[in-house]
Amino acid sequence: MYTCITKNVEETKELGKKLGKSAKSGMVFLLYGDLGSGKTCLTKGIGLGLNINATINSPTFNILKIYEGDLTLNHIDAYRLEGINQDLGFDEQIDGEGLTVIEWPQYIMDTIGDNYLKIEIIINEDDTRTFNFYPYGKEYEVLLKEIVC
Ligand code: ADP
Ligand code: MG
Repeated sequence: MYTCITKNVEETKELGKKLGKSAKSGMVFLLYGDLGSGKTCLTKGIGLGLNINATINSPTFNILKIYEGDLTLNHIDAYRLEGINQDLGFDEQIDGEGLTVIEWPQYIMDTIGDNYLKIEIIINEDDTRTFNFYPYGKEYEVLLKEIVC
């Protein structure tokens, strides 16, 4: 496990930017954390690292948004899929080209394979954020070695 703490939105975006720069096609990042913990903020930073020009917003009402950059970014927010138990065909995105970032992955775990980077975000009492990284797969261990925080 690897841990980073960010004091504000800018630091979280900076952390995301590093992740985006180091990401490889086919990777999957799972973002766990309460509402307002910073999942979308981190994803915005990932977008910066991938040189995506479009503004990345929470895809809550679309569930999936796709952005083009150095890698294609598939941004999924499964928040509204709790208990839905339906195959919505996300496997195609997740197994395909590009980087897939998933907010609220616990609701669609049956569509997610065994290899991913689990990122747990904790809101601390002083409003800073703790990011715990758990690599599931060698390529994510390699990626984490590149991330300095
Ligand atoms: P989520 O997608 O997890 O629901 P967002 O990224 O949309 O969360 O929102 C995070 C909120 O927390 C924003 O309102 C942001 O201003 C605030 N915030 C405070 N501190 C931080 C931090 N260190 N990193 C990210 N967001 C922070
Ligand atoms: Mg969000």
